[in-house]
Order: sequence, then structure tokens, then C-alpha cells
Amino acid sequence: MALDLSRIRERLQGMLDNEHPPSREVLRERTPASDPIAVATDNVEKEIAALLIDRRTTRIIMLEAAIYRVDKGIYGNCRVRECGDQIDEKRLEAMPATPFCRSCQEKREGKQPRRFRAA
Ligand SMILES: [Zn+2]
Repeated sequence: MALDLSRIRERLQGMLDNEHPPSREVLRERTPASDPIAVATDNVEKEIAALLIDRRTTRIIMLEAAIYRVDKGIYGNCRVRECGDQIDEKRLEAMPATPFCRSCQEKREGKQPRRFRAA
């Protein structure tokens, strides 16, 4: 069963096009507020913005890496060096940018902090 690489590449590219480039607007330094509540609000906003940018950047990197793998003819192989298994087609259909097979993904998630799960 061969993967339809041109279709997959198109899909990945479409997903990538949907991601707007990270905006640093919210992170820009403002005039320091003297009101402590305003300062606190400001910090929370910055944290949220940084987290969102972080997640979006991760998605963009994953999509670009997946397109690269399509172009290199190594798409669909698990990127864990000791594994290298063919990733299940249904899994690729659901998550075209995933670089790992299910069991490697599960092993990795076991090690990672909670906020990185289920991206
Ligand atoms: Zn694997």
C-alpha cells in the first residue's frame, strides 16, 4: 500500500498556509504600568501570548519537517532512530505531520510534561 505523497504534501502545505506567522505584537514592551493590578494583568497576557506562539511555532515546525520528509522520500517512517517503523496509514491520515509511530509517541508522552500532550 503506497501513500499518496502528492496528496499528502498538498494537505500539509494547506495546513501550513493556515498557520499565520507568529505575532510578537502582544509581547512588545509597553510603558511600565505603575498600577500593580495592571502590571499583573500585563504579565498574564504576556505569558498566554508566549504559550500560544510556542504551540503555533511547534505546529509550523512539525508541518515544515513533514513536507521535508515527503520531499526526501522518507515520509511515513518513524523518526525514532531505533524504531524506523512504517507509521500506520490511519494515524498519518489523522495526524499528517506526526513524525512518530504510535508506540514511540506514547513512550515520548510518558516523559513529557502535561502541557505538551495532545497538541
Ligand atoms: Zn516508532
